[in-house]
Amino acid sequence: MLERNLHMLGGTGESSYAANSTLQKRYAAGAMFLVKEAMESLVHVMIPTSETLLVFADLGCSTGANAFVTHSSIMGTISITCKKLDRPMPEIQLLLNDLPGNDFNTLLGPALSSYKERISESMREIGVSFYTAAVSGSFYTKLFPKRSVHFIYSCASLHWLSQVPFGLSNATDGTVINRRSLWISNKSPPIVSRLYLEQFQRDFSLFLKHRCEELHSEGRMTLIIPGRVGANALTEESAPWISWYEDGLQDLVSEGIVKAADVNSFNVPFYYPSMAEVKSIIHTEGSFEIINDHAYEILYSNCLDVIPADTDKIWEKIINISRAVLEPLLVSHFGDSIIQPLFSSTLPKMYAKESFKEKYKLASQANLAISLKKK
Ligand code: SAH
Repeated sequence: MLERNLHMLGGTGESSYAANSTLQKRYAAGAMFLVKEAMESLVHVMIPTSETLLVFADLGCSTGANAFVTHSSIMGTISITCKKLDRPMPEIQLLLNDLPGNDFNTLLGPALSSYKERISESMREIGVSFYTAAVSGSFYTKLFPKRSVHFIYSCASLHWLSQVPFGLSNATDGTVINRRSLWISNKSPPIVSRLYLEQFQRDFSLFLKHRCEELHSEGRMTLIIPGRVGANALTEESAPWISWYEDGLQDLVSEGIVKAADVNSFNVPFYYPSMAEVKSIIHTEGSFEIINDHAYEILYSNCLDVIPADTDKIWEKIINISRAVLEPLLVSHFGDSIIQPLFSSTLPKMYAKESFKEKYKLASQANLAISLKKK
């Protein structure tokens, strides 16, 4: 079952998600104005008293501090809005969801404690009581009781499909359809991008249906989805890093470390939609009204605060960011033995080349943020 293998690298080590989530933090920052707008409007309609409980859910929260950065921004906006309206601060519950394989121990241990330490002063000033709970399960299933959540947020998670698209991995006559690529690329037959899109349509529609049932009647939802700007779903434009792995795995095949057949049958279960595709699914599914949307791009090299922009360290860091995402999938398909040669030899050799640096100097990730209200 794919979902068991889908999770970020846990713990707090050098390649862990907790240590490699600055890119996703920038994704969130680029759309925080939509979160704040949703919060203000929620507080206006809910007219909280000190007895009111506002429930927020972060879907696909992973292990790092990003869930708490957003949470702190949400609490700040609620506090300002309550002050303006002369209302007391409501109690707040934060539900943190991810797949069962997620490292909830790191999330609810070190990440939560350091968040509480950092914000304890301002929480006292705001007078907020907030409670945290973890909810393990796929967001493509029911997660919460009906009408029990006021605000749903998800960042950098909805491009994860529930499975490798049906039809790529289940070819009945045993042929492997996308043998020359790990994903959608110009080496894939045209049917591949259609199969990926159809899987995204099924998954995202199901996501919307469940969230509509779980949201309070005034409920709001803000989604930040890594996507693409153009209409064409090719790897190079929407997720350049996947093609690095494609080249890296081919090198391992040439060196006899990995079997060609294993690379041929490996497909990454991500889809980077366009805004038009996302909106069309929302319209067709019919549960939500689109309040606002915003598309923006984040340069990879802008996300590496600590590292000067012109050193090889950039590529090492970017590979670590992608490793935190991909390692569990690679291990489940190829076994542990691929990790050392891939990350210590093949990929570093690749990104040390001038031609690689030149080609990817301006590599970026597009993001689609969309703010929704239950109809
Ligand atoms: N929101 C975080 C983490 C993004 S990483 C941030 O902004 O930093 C994407 C996360 O989505 C991973 O932790 C992955 O396990 C989770 N995820 C992927 N598919 C999921 C699903 N079907 N249900 C719940 N979580 C999922």
